[in-house]
Amino acid sequence: MKEKIALYPGTFDPITNGHLDIVKRVSRIFDRVIVAIAESAHKNPLLSLEQRYEIADRSLRDFDGVECITFKGLLVDEFKKNRVDVVIRGLRAISDFEYELMITLMNRKLEPDFETVFLMPSEEYIYLHSSLVKEIYRMGGRIDCHVPKPVKEGLNKWFPRT
Ligand code: ADP
Repeated sequence: MKEKIALYPGTFDPITNGHLDIVKRVSRIFDRVIVAIAESAHKNPLLSLEQRYEIADRSLRDFDGVECITFKGLLVDEFKKNRVDVVIRGLRAISDFEYELMITLMNRKLEPDFETVFLMPSEEYIYLHSSLVKEIYRMGGRIDCHVPKPVKEGLNKWFPRT
């Protein structure tokens, strides 16, 4: 039987414990999980694509059946290229819903086989956003309880706080 593959795309600027919570849930359901880090140039990420890949890859090293890739083009092209069964997205509060609905329906227009599965994180991660982590870091606050260790190490290395 063909292995079931899930693709979890996002900007991951940077990866947080909320993302990891979703990856853990997905890897219990699918044989392979591909965490796909999008260039997302329009979002002006703080971290480069290579930096986001490096810390996500290090953070996911101990997860069985999980790998990281980067991509620059359309998600539907990545979906086809990797022969993926479903795309995974995380749903936090209701505020995520409208954006996710728009993206899903548009992707389905581009590729009729495109299917998305939405997963909800544990409630402790419902209000965890990568943008909040960056803001706290920038202002000198502690981020340890929100991100895996490689994120803190990466931010300290690339954006040292004085
Ligand atoms: P994007 O630019 O694609 O929204 P993100 O890295 O912000 O990239 O998010 C990638 C996916 O992970 C999205 O589906 C988002 O809803 C989900 N996500 C982000 N943070 C969390 C979290 N704390 N808990 C659960 N899902 C999350």
